[in-house]
Amino acid sequence: MCGIIGYVGSDQAVPVILDGLRRLEYRGYDSAGMAILDGDAIQILRAAGKLRNLEQRAYREPLHGTTGIGHTRWATHGGPTDRNAHPHADPTGRVAVVHNGIIENYQALRATFDTARFASDTDTEVVAHLVAAELDRLGTGDLLDAVRRVVGRLDGAFSLCIVATDEPGTIVVARRQSPLIVAHAEGVGYCASDVAALISHTRD
Ligand code: GLU
Repeated sequence: MCGIIGYVGSDQAVPVILDGLRRLEYRGYDSAGMAILDGDAIQILRAAGKLRNLEQRAYREPLHGTTGIGHTRWATHGGPTDRNAHPHADPTGRVAVVHNGIIENYQALRATFDTARFASDTDTEVVAHLVAAELDRLGTGDLLDAVRRVVGRLDGAFSLCIVATDEPGTIVVARRQSPLIVAHAEGVGYCASDVAALISHTRD
């Protein structure tokens, strides 16, 4: 299990996400990535290997937006490659997910979709497909409701941070038997798998 950081506020999210990931580095990881909401589009950068690889990619391909989620991965399902690095999205790019832990029943859940539309070998990606399908079915754009319904179908231990183009200023989080902290400061929300990622920003 590795590191998660999320930020919702009025500053650019990328520096906060990268700083948080740096502070989580001690946990060990094999790849890293982030998803930033820019208006109503989600942009994703990922890189296998050291955080430096993601930082270099972020320098070459700057992302703008004030809502973001980031992840350092310790692979359990699918090798430590760019395509398996988190965040994972549904095929339309409506939903992005970072995840620590294991979704035990991911194969059964994955089999309910056209498997040709999966872009990774992880147990995580199916969560993005499920949330997008639930948003489609509900038709309300209510991300919290969609995530709540999906989490009820997941077996295993996990912490999840999820963003969707339906709600650009929102991160929905969920956890089961896996650490996840939610924190706030003036007009700003954070989530993280470890206080180390947040302590320089807030103690609340
Ligand atoms: N099971 C997920 C994967 O292999 C998450 C691993 C982690 O906790 O970093 O992609």
